[in-house]
Amino acid sequence: MEQTLSIIKPDAVAKNVVGQILSRFEAAGLRIAATKKVQLSQADAEAFYAVHAERPFFKDLVSFMISGPVVVSVLEGDNAVLKHRDLMGATNPKEAAPGTIRADFADSIDANAVHGSDSLENAKIEIGFFFAARDIY
Ligand code: GDP
Repeated sequence: MEQTLSIIKPDAVAKNVVGQILSRFEAAGLRIAATKKVQLSQADAEAFYAVHAERPFFKDLVSFMISGPVVVSVLEGDNAVLKHRDLMGATNPKEAAPGTIRADFADSIDANAVHGSDSLENAKIEIGFFFAARDIY
């Protein structure tokens, strides 16, 4: 049984499709072990995406991620990390396979609707960034 971190980004929260996206996780057999709506500060977003600090898109990424509230969740299930990444689709929604969350809800590589941990190791770090053990059931 794996756990992974999902973020429904500000564009998808503003579009009022939080429930539709969470339903896709449940329909695919992932269980919501924790969830909450958060407004990230600039320091939060910079820390969360620190691995991208040297990338040319870092400033845009941080300002987008603080442009409105996000919904962060811990998803649990067999093969959760990869299963979640498959449901999300490619980073650039123009390249995302039909039926994926990014193909259906994202507008651009910046406003791409969702984030998901890319490895089990990063999932543990990202879950710890947002949730205490007592918040996860
Ligand atoms: P992800 O794991 O699919 O979210 O992709 P990455 O970890 O590589 O990148 C993190 C986030 O940075 C992505 O979800 C995009 O929002 C943004 N991003 C990645 N690559 C680019 C890029 O080339 N240009 C821009 N503007 N944003 C990017």
